[in-house]
Amino acid sequence: MPLLGAHMSIAGGVSKAIDRGESIGCDTVQIFTRNNNRWASKPLQPADIERFHKRVKETGIWPVFSHAAYLINLASPKPDLWERSIEAFIDELQRAEVLGLLGVVLHPGSHMGEGEEAGIARIVAALDRCHEATAGFRTLTLLEVTAGTGDHLGYRFEHLAAIRDRVKHPERIGFCLDTCHVFAAGYDFRTAEGYEAMMAEFDRILGLDRLKAIHLNDSKHPLGSRKDRHEHIGKGHIGLDGFRWLVSDTRLQSVPMVLETPKSPDMHEDVENLQVLRALITSAD
Ligand code: ZN
Ligand code: MN
Ligand code: MN
Repeated sequence: MPLLGAHMSIAGGVSKAIDRGESIGCDTVQIFTRNNNRWASKPLQPADIERFHKRVKETGIWPVFSHAAYLINLASPKPDLWERSIEAFIDELQRAEVLGLLGVVLHPGSHMGEGEEAGIARIVAALDRCHEATAGFRTLTLLEVTAGTGDHLGYRFEHLAAIRDRVKHPERIGFCLDTCHVFAAGYDFRTAEGYEAMMAEFDRILGLDRLKAIHLNDSKHPLGSRKDRHEHIGKGHIGLDGFRWLVSDTRLQSVPMVLETPKSPDMHEDVENLQVLRALITSAD
């Protein structure tokens, strides 16, 4: 059986995300460990960290991983924003390490008109600094496949491979596949053949063993639209089949799969989406 869950709010403390995940039957959760659209961050409270570890143990919810703040742009050509981004990503890694998280999902970055090669070079230099400042950490940097909106890098597996191949510490790098993003980027996995072809390409270019997290989102926009708008499972342009292959793929049994779909405070949308996903699992035997 695949590990299914959702992105959970940390309102009231990071440990509350585990309570919320447990309340709707998540096997795994993704969290923000700091405000996702502000530079400033408050330190994690020791009591909250302790309770987080306790709740993870009690509930068995694992893996838990975080998503980096959206302001971070390690490809930025503006020196001040680039430095701030490095500082913020180091903080993300430190928080993740203290919490024992599997890794931090990161959008590679936007080159802001400077070109893809310049953007990739900046990302590589930034990641080297981040990894050197956090030497010996176990938590991974999980580069996410993006929809390719604007000047955002990461909409081709080759972009992520170029980053992995050029950083000084490739062992610190893993990958996160987002179904909405990869579909908007033009990878069509709605048929069994299309799905197998995409996974074979992922394996050849990035390595399936480095696929560490999956975001399950349907897409409001069509194949190749390069637009990033998440829709509930089965209600968008991907449709149920794409998700059927993914949740039934025996190679992905230990890869956490989380929803990032719109939700209200009572999380009933997550409950429904998880039901839909669980009903799609077809066992091999
Ligand atoms: Zn993301
Ligand atoms: Mn995502
Ligand atoms: Mn998205």
